[in-house]
Amino acid sequence: MALVALIHPELSFEPAYPLGLACLVSTLRRDGHRAIGVDLRMVRGGRAMQAVAAARADVVGIPVCTRNKETVFSLAREIALHCRIPVVLGGPHATLCPGECLSREGVAGVVRGDGETVFSRVVDALSGGGDAALEGWVPRSAPASPGGCAREPDLDALPWPDREVFPAIAYAGHPLRRGLFAPVVTSRGCGFRCSFCAAPAVSGTPRRVRSTGAVVDEILCLRNRFGITDVLLEDDQFLENREHVLHLCDALRSAGVPVRWHLPNGVRVDCVDQGILRAIRAAGCASIALGVESGAAEVRASLGRPCDEGRVRDVVRHAHAAGLSVTGYFMLGLPGGSAADDWHTFRFSRAIPFDLAHFSTYEWTPGCAIPERCGRRGTDRAIRAAAYLGFYASPVRIARLTLRGDIAPARAGAALKRFAAWLGEGVAD
Ligand code: SF4
Repeated sequence: MALVALIHPELSFEPAYPLGLACLVSTLRRDGHRAIGVDLRMVRGGRAMQAVAAARADVVGIPVCTRNKETVFSLAREIALHCRIPVVLGGPHATLCPGECLSREGVAGVVRGDGETVFSRVVDALSGGGDAALEGWVPRSAPASPGGCAREPDLDALPWPDREVFPAIAYAGHPLRRGLFAPVVTSRGCGFRCSFCAAPAVSGTPRRVRSTGAVVDEILCLRNRFGITDVLLEDDQFLENREHVLHLCDALRSAGVPVRWHLPNGVRVDCVDQGILRAIRAAGCASIALGVESGAAEVRASLGRPCDEGRVRDVVRHAHAAGLSVTGYFMLGLPGGSAADDWHTFRFSRAIPFDLAHFSTYEWTPGCAIPERCGRRGTDRAIRAAAYLGFYASPVRIARLTLRGDIAPARAGAALKRFAAWLGEGVAD
């Protein structure tokens, strides 16, 4: 039996529950190992290393994204150097760029794909001083033959995420909203190919779905055991399979699951229609985010998200009629565009009656179809400030959302902090 320290690196100013690590904890425990969790948001810098060393961990696991890779690489080096514990990287960047991860000092190996399927055996091998030949495991000793990714075809065969090592309740507050929130996924992967997105390469294609019974039972457990009131369904693309969605809605309604649920991950507008909106609302959905991305129809088409303005308007109107709160997701700084295009996107977002809109700045990631050479353009501060003022600081919108109970007025300070952090990110040089 080995002790594994799982480190949750800070990714952005948004606190996020480490669902992937919670899934790993479950399989480690099932297979007879122990696990501790270290969240770098709460345990900073050298204290993270001290926590790992004091626990006498046998193996350390850290997920890495393209965005935080340098932070994770330097942490891996420090842990390997000072604690002499093998460090294994997993997550999106390890899945897509195993060679780069293995080239960094202190990385004992990388897990590619669904870590739950191989990590226990990797821990067995590393803590026993040996090695393992497994699909999805690339040890430092064999970096030239990365092989494929580990994929679990039957998601119901995996245990539910452990919600204790990273306590569900410690992450349940929302920066803006009332309620106790927890993430759940009903599927992994995506069958679409939006050109800016690496999710199909990271999580696999075709998409794999959990049984509706398992999803309902997990949500009921979150409610009964932790008092969770709001569930975030964080699938890569929840609406990809209409029949499955309708089946899940039926199951949630029949079970009378007493939680609100939300679709925060930017569903495709072309997957939404009036029937789906009514069904999800009747099953407890309270809010939906639409991945619109650009104000120009030709840009949306070039990104692999074709839909005309009329469709966007209709979907927002039908969603409101069904009683859903609607957020629009947009990307600024898209390759080949200009500041004028970003302003057009901003005006478009204001012309459609979204309740809120989020504007992210495009960043290239490995595994997406847009070539790296198209690079990062950034956005200017004026448009970022206007985007914020047009939504998060709009008295009319905030009053409406507060009256509906979507936003807690006491969270205004947190909203401003969030704005300050966001304003500083992704700004053009
Ligand atoms: S953006 Fe969404 S729909 Fe498009 S490929 Fe990524 S996960 Fe799939």
